[in-house]
Parts: sequence; C-alpha cells; structure tokens
Amino acid sequence: MDKQKFYITTAIPYVNAAPHIGFALELVQTDVIARFNRLLGKDVFFLTGTDENAQKNALAAEKIGVTPKELVDKNAQMFIDLTKKLNISNDDFIRTTDKERHWIGAKKLWELCYQNGDIYKKKYSGLYCIGCEAFVTEKDLVDGLCPEHLKKPEKIVEENYFFKLSRYENELLDIIENDKIKILPEARKNEILSFIRQGLEDFSISRPAERMKGWGIPVPGDETQIIYVWFDALANYITALGFGKDEKKFKKYWPADVHVIGKGIIRFHAIYWPAMLLSAGLELPKKIFVHGYVTSGGQKMSKTLGNVIDPFEMIEKYGVDQLRYYLLREIPVFDDGDFSEKSLIERVDKELVSKYSNLFYRVTTFIEKNFDSIVPEEKVDQKEKKIFDEELNRYISLMQEYKINEALSVLMNLSDRLNKYFQEEKPWETIKNDKEKCKKTIKTSIELVKDLSLAFYPFIPSSAEKALKCLGVKEIGLKGFKKQVKGKISSSMLFKFLGKV
Ligand SMILES: [Zn+2]
Repeated sequence: MDKQKFYITTAIPYVNAAPHIGFALELVQTDVIARFNRLLGKDVFFLTGTDENAQKNALAAEKIGVTPKELVDKNAQMFIDLTKKLNISNDDFIRTTDKERHWIGAKKLWELCYQNGDIYKKKYSGLYCIGCEAFVTEKDLVDGLCPEHLKKPEKIVEENYFFKLSRYENELLDIIENDKIKILPEARKNEILSFIRQGLEDFSISRPAERMKGWGIPVPGDETQIIYVWFDALANYITALGFGKDEKKFKKYWPADVHVIGKGIIRFHAIYWPAMLLSAGLELPKKIFVHGYVTSGGQKMSKTLGNVIDPFEMIEKYGVDQLRYYLLREIPVFDDGDFSEKSLIERVDKELVSKYSNLFYRVTTFIEKNFDSIVPEEKVDQKEKKIFDEELNRYISLMQEYKINEALSVLMNLSDRLNKYFQEEKPWETIKNDKEKCKKTIKTSIELVKDLSLAFYPFIPSSAEKALKCLGVKEIGLKGFKKQVKGKISSSMLFKFLGKV
C-alpha cells in the first residue's frame, strides 16, 4: 500500500531584511509537524522558500546601488542558511525569482483564472502600503498609519488588472464556515468569517511595470503590467510541485494538508488564495495553521527599540535544540509570546537538562557501571509501561491537533514520572539485595527512555538522534517504539550535547 501523503508549507518571507526570530518560530513549528508525520510513517513533503518579487526589493536595491537580482540572491541565502542552522527538514526550497521553477506555473495560474472570466482591467485609485505590498483602506489605518508598518500609505491612481473576488463570497463563506478549509485556531476562523460577511471586493492583481521598475513576473500577454506579488507568491505552493510544467509531484501532493502562516497574512491565505484556486479549478488546501507573533521584552521587535532578536546569534549562543525547545515550549502555538534569554536559560536548564537529559544520563550510566554497559534481559514492568503508553497516546492526539506546547508538556511530565520511578525503585540498593528487581527497574527505565527519546525527536532532532544512537536504535519511526533496547549501549554522547547553558 502507498504511504499516506502529507504536504506542509511555511509562508515564504520577503527577503528585504535578515530573517527574524518570528520566522524561525514558523520554520520550527512546521518542522515539528513534518517530522512528527514522518514518524507516523507518512510520505511528507515539506516546502519553504522566499518571496522575492516585491517592489520593496527593487527599491532597496536601488538605494544601495545594486541590481534587484543581486540583492535577492544575497538575502535569500540567509534564509537558506537559517533552515540549515535550525536543522529544518524541508524537502524543497522555492525562490519566486526562479523563472524555470516558479514563473511558468504562476503564469499558468493567471491564465486559468483569466480563461474563467475572473480577471479584468480597471482604473483604480487607492492607498498603498509598500510595507504590506497591498492596497489598504482608511478602515485599516490607525492614526492615518498602517498598523503593521507604522507608515503612512501612498495615494496611487493607476490602471490594473482585477480579480473577481466578489464572485466567490458565498462559496468562501460556506468553505470556511463548514471547515472545508479548517482554520486553526477557532478565533482566526471567526475573524475571517466576519471579514467575508462585510462583503468581499474585487482586488487588484497587477502593477504597472514602470512603477515596479520592471521587477517581477510580467502579466501573460501584457508586458506593461507585472503580476501582483501576492498573486505570484501564493502560487509558490503549487509551482514548487511542478504545477504547469511537470505535474507528477503536483498530482501526488496537492492539495496541501496544512499551510503554516503568521496571523498578519491570514486574509491572503484564507480568502484570496482559495478564491484563486476555485477560479482555476484546483483543489483547496485542507488546513491553515495560524501562529502569533514573537515579542521581545513584551514589545514588538523594532530596530529603534533595539530589542530585535537574531536567530543566528541565539543558535550560536545556546545551541539549536535548545532554541527549538524553547520556542516550542514557551511561545503559545496560536498566540503571541514573549522571547527572553533569561527564560530560555531557565527552560533549558530546569526542563530539558534537569528532566530529560538527566534521566537519560542516570539510566545509561547505571547500566554502564553496574551491568558493563549491557542492557539486562528482563521483563518490562507492565503497570509502568501501560501508564506510560496512555500518556504517549495523549501526546500523539495532541500533536495531531497541532497542540504542540501541550504535547511537549506531556513529554516533560513523562520525564518527571520516569525520574520519580527510578528514584523510588532505588536500583542502587536493589542491586545489592534483589538483583532481579534491579534488572526489571533498569530494563523498564531504558525502554521507556527510548520511547521518550523517539517522542522528543520532532522537537530536538539532533539530540534525540544521538540519544537513540547510544541505545542502538536505528529506526526513527513507529517501528522504533516496538523494538527493544538490547545489548551494549554507550552513554556519553548525549549528555555532553545537552549540557548546562
Ligand atoms: Zn503596511
């Protein structure tokens, strides 16, 4: 039987600045979901990439006297580097300036919408926020400024192509209301529903080539216009699969099982994107996972406040698994959360090191010292295993509902429980007077530590891999849970890795 497919994406960030910690969070959340689904044995395709056709890239390049291409090449590399440094398991990385991989499919999507009668030309005047790369309305502004970018929008009059979004109003309402595209969390779903109920207006999907300084994808059949960066960017989710070109992967993986995005771009994903797909006659994504923002010292990060957190610096200073663990544990999955180095150090020390890493160390060194590093052959304590397995099943359900923080809490509680079990069973005493009991305690502990390490794998993959390697477990997947730890183990590697910060 073919493996069940699972297609997951991050949003693709603009490359006009270095990647920030908020995007690091998105990468890590997506990676955990991807790795967890691989653990379950699914055929996962995980996509990330960069959005490079924005007008602000052309403007930023002009300012520093380089070509837009030079600017995006240099900046996109930082995002590629970040995926590597964070140990992200993406299967692909799409860049929207890639004429071969992206432009052909993006143009095809345009043509399909055009053929369906949903694209027309119209003269338009409106307020434009260059930070958002979008027209905004007076309603969206706070004190005359875009609340996202704290900038005054420009007034623009021009002739553009428009997309007949109004035509899809009722259909979109039905889709969102009835979870045909499920939006997580519920609060974001309600936000989208009330937005649709206010009425959907057609939106502009092209910009004059002149204003874009020729940067971006030309509209098929009209070189004087460039495809609006959002229309083009959203298409990445299908172009990366070869849509419009070689559709083997597209047929296999589309529709997306989940798009992971930040709360600032939900309208584009829950309204524009589904409408474009409906128009083109393509299937809709199944879920949209909307995370909040990372604040620093309780405030939005900004250069002026000097509170910007650089993910590269944090990895360098504390280690990749430590940063991953902290982001996933501290920042609520669907809400804003605050980042501080103080709480990172605390979380890592008091939880990851004191609970999990310490447990691993206690059990393995005991085997080393008292059993010559050979796991005793004994039966596992069934009572203990049953309780453990029930909790492990709870972890699996929580992960399937994308409740990542809660799932991680379950694993931390299990680490606590196992530490307590070890403590109460007192193997250092039973080794002297009841060797059979001692063997049982140790065998039980090592089996459950192995299962715990497998469950931790999506969160702290390189540490978990090292731990499992110490125990001689090669199968990182459901098979690994069924296989027992046998023979000789080694203990030193993991503890060194997850030492105190
Ligand atoms: Zn803005």
